[in-house]
Amino acid sequence: MGESAEELFARALAAADAEGRLPLPPLDEWETFPFEGEIRVRPLRAPADEPPRLGEDPADCWRCRRSEEDAIWSDERWLLTPLEKPSGLPVIVILQPREHCDLGDLPDRLAAELGPLLVRVERAVDSVGDIGRVHVGRWGDGSAHLHWWFIARPARMPQLRTSFAAIWDDILPPLPEELWRANLAAVARAMAADGGRAYV
Ligand SMILES: [Zn+2]
Repeated sequence: MGESAEELFARALAAADAEGRLPLPPLDEWETFPFEGEIRVRPLRAPADEPPRLGEDPADCWRCRRSEEDAIWSDERWLLTPLEKPSGLPVIVILQPREHCDLGDLPDRLAAELGPLLVRVERAVDSVGDIGRVHVGRWGDGSAHLHWWFIARPARMPQLRTSFAAIWDDILPPLPEELWRANLAAVARAMAADGGRAYV
């Protein structure tokens, strides 16, 4: 049996100050941490119910409603979509099955395609050029419909390495619109070279 939220909370509070703030980790040793100066940990909140996710009910799922409307590439079973507008990193795209499911209930026929597709999208994003690394992530606390993040970190910008790249994406000025569209088109073309359809 796992540790309950109440047990975790009690154990954490025992290590926290009177306001419920835990000590800072050694931020000065994290060379890719984007912030400096006076920083403190937020007080830890008490256990609570899980908040509902977007589109938990397929009838109410924005991804199912949009289908390939905003996709840059798709095939019969999968969609690749960008963010709604340019952000700080050169490419961020999201891979999703057309069918409404999450990773834990992904049908076997889609699961069998997922491994090769992850590799394909990584290569397509890398083909944009001047990409140092393509980070691949699946969180899933926001939307219920399975979605994989592909987050490109610029080459020769070592300060932007590691998972903090996702935070630098919010800090860096957004890409010029034209460059953003050209990068997405390059990803879509690279995907379509191995099947499916590019929309840009
Ligand atoms: Zn859905």
